[in-house]
Amino acid sequence: MKILVVEDEQKVAAFIRQGLEEAGYQVEVAFDGLNGKRLAEEKRFDLLVLDLLLPGMNGREVCVALRKSQPRLPILMLTALGTSEDKLAGFESGADDYLVKPFEFSELLARIKALVRRSNPAAMEPKLIAGDLEIDTDKKVAIRAGQPISLTAKEYALLSYLMQHKGKVVSRQQIAADVWDIHFDTGTNVVDVYVNFLRKKIDKDHETKLIQTLIGMGYMIDA
Ligand code: CA
Repeated sequence: MKILVVEDEQKVAAFIRQGLEEAGYQVEVAFDGLNGKRLAEEKRFDLLVLDLLLPGMNGREVCVALRKSQPRLPILMLTALGTSEDKLAGFESGADDYLVKPFEFSELLARIKALVRRSNPAAMEPKLIAGDLEIDTDKKVAIRAGQPISLTAKEYALLSYLMQHKGKVVSRQQIAADVWDIHFDTGTNVVDVYVNFLRKKIDKDHETKLIQTLIGMGYMIDA
């Protein structure tokens, strides 16, 4: 789960980044509106935390621009004053929610979770199930036919990504971008290597193979 934070106050940005990383999110930070807009358009994020008052291009302008180029990206806007005028500015520019500074980190996290749940319900399911394979996203463990499977952090990230897209084909490029943050074709075969690692742990000892290769298209997990 990747979050872009656009915030020009370094202290606030560091505070948000640290908290979100501790909560298990991947975080990138931009310190002005133009860079924030560029990053949000170049890479794929699951959510944007956007400050309203920013140098260069303000949060409202960034929001209006991204509503056209990234209409599905959930945007949580941070406003400094909390006047009704600011609140209105946030919603009118297309933000999905807003939060008034200063805020408790727990409040920010709750808003983020609610937005993510709304936009991608599978990502927040406590349990993801495919046949007799189940992963517990709170404890970050996988179990097949009642047997716990020991996975590395990357193997877990790949498996939970495939489970979130259960029954849908995901291309190598999509997986490389979303799990490894590789956004261009480097000729790397890291995805295939890790899919093989997973196969050995998940499928090898079972008659029903859950991980499928669709030649020329990508991979899919399905029962
Ligand atoms: Ca600011």
